[in-house]
Amino acid sequence: PQNLIPPPLPQPCKISEIKHTKIFINNEWHSSLKGKTFPTFNPATGVKICEIEEADKADVDKAVDAAKAAGKRGSTWRRMDVSSRGRLLHKLADLLERDRCLLATMETMDTGKPFLQSFFVDLDGSIKTLRYYAGWADKIHGKTMPVDDNFMCFTKHEPVGVCGAIIPWNFPLLMFMWKIAPALCCGNTVVIKPAEQTPLTALYTGALIKEAGFPPGVVNIVPGFGPTAGAAIAGHMGIDKVAFTGSTEVGQLIKEAAAKSNLKRVTLELGGKNPCIVFADADLPLAVQEAQKGAFYNQGQCCTAASRVFVEECVYDEFVRLSIASAKQITAGDPMDPCTSHGPQIDQQQFDMILELVESGKREGARLECGGYALQDKALFIQPAVFSDVIDHMRLAKEEVFGPVQCIMKFKNQEEVIERANSTHYGLAAAVFTRSVERAMRVSSALEAGTVWVNCYNALHAQAPFGGYKMSGNGRELGEYALAEYSEVKAITIKLNDQLT
Ligand code: NAD
Repeated sequence: PQNLIPPPLPQPCKISEIKHTKIFINNEWHSSLKGKTFPTFNPATGVKICEIEEADKADVDKAVDAAKAAGKRGSTWRRMDVSSRGRLLHKLADLLERDRCLLATMETMDTGKPFLQSFFVDLDGSIKTLRYYAGWADKIHGKTMPVDDNFMCFTKHEPVGVCGAIIPWNFPLLMFMWKIAPALCCGNTVVIKPAEQTPLTALYTGALIKEAGFPPGVVNIVPGFGPTAGAAIAGHMGIDKVAFTGSTEVGQLIKEAAAKSNLKRVTLELGGKNPCIVFADADLPLAVQEAQKGAFYNQGQCCTAASRVFVEECVYDEFVRLSIASAKQITAGDPMDPCTSHGPQIDQQQFDMILELVESGKREGARLECGGYALQDKALFIQPAVFSDVIDHMRLAKEEVFGPVQCIMKFKNQEEVIERANSTHYGLAAAVFTRSVERAMRVSSALEAGTVWVNCYNALHAQAPFGGYKMSGNGRELGEYALAEYSEVKAITIKLNDQLT
């Protein structure tokens, strides 16, 4: 019957020209003040896509001035009804839906991630994040506190001011939305720097922000490099808060620059060395599938990557066998082909670093069961690797690989594996596979991580908070929790007339 025919898969569009390559300030396109540009490449082919106007400190200053003016008392943005703010966020989501195919194609061109993943994961997450925070815009309110003596006290939540954001290349559009949606919903203005490797979808979104009707200066986009444009944001006296996603080392620089300038508020979403624990009572095929999705999704370029898989002794051999069989089925290919599930790494530097870590694993005595080699001469493809017999002291077990490398380790009992899972400076995500609810509860409570998945992996939702313990970060993104990162709380206390009470 007809209703059993699945709908056709979305197909990438033809993009003949990249229209938006300049700096976006005050809803207008600006050239770099120093007249500099930088190239962005398609990692699947190595071909240059276009040149982008490069923002430096002076351009960031210009963007901050625009953001400050847009958010000052009495401005259109500050006086706008809160429900209208929500409507603008919904409008932007509508425009992302309208241009979903084009944005997914552009994201794949710039990152090399498979087109269907761009379409179904990055675009879906971006749209849902906007809609989730659109709903919050008119529900951000304070409390009334019963205080001692004869006073009335209540709180108001106000915007922090100009929010800087610095984002990475692994989920360019999604990270853009994770930053701007809560900031705008709370009434702030934004200066955001996309990663130098992947500026295209952010700049295209600039045009959609203008089309949606956001007042000029509410969102400003400054493409450029970390040590110049990024550092200018982190150390800016006119920026009141900075949100960063990227490496732990740069996160430390951001916090230092914030402290040394104006003590701006800082939220950080950094790396992880995430444990994925498989107990003998787990649904083993499910655990194999999810752990591998955790290790290889987005070519392993995820801060949540399942990079330490601990498997209970008695099912270890079976788990390794099934994981090898599953990894061998992955074929890398043209990311624009809707049948492709594995694309190239982002650039030569990351590619070299991953292969170097694979070599270190071999040298240190881990067993390379399959993959771990470059696929073609020129491009940046790596066949997904499975390592067994990985030991805690090896570099593979300690350093973030940020590539398609699964490391499988053996454990004997629950107490031991909790101890080992927690013995890292990171604490972003963790997973537990078991059929016992009691074990799932005990182990998830004991794990030092901001997110724990039970019998699943990479299950992220706009409604649930996301962030790290320890050196994986500060603060939380998404969910209601993120609103606190983008609001100042003001306590207003009124002396009451004694006679009236
Ligand atoms: P990175 O931390 O260097 O870059 C992230 C962002 O920070 C980019 O926009 C970059 O331009 C900016 N930046 C770099 N130096 C800066 C500085 N001094 N001041 C201000 N901003 C600066 O990450 P990367 O070089 O793209 O990747 C290196 C490693 O970072 C990866 O191997 C991985 O471990 C980690 N990483 C983590 C995430 C994540 O989602 N947590 C994402 C990408 C990379």
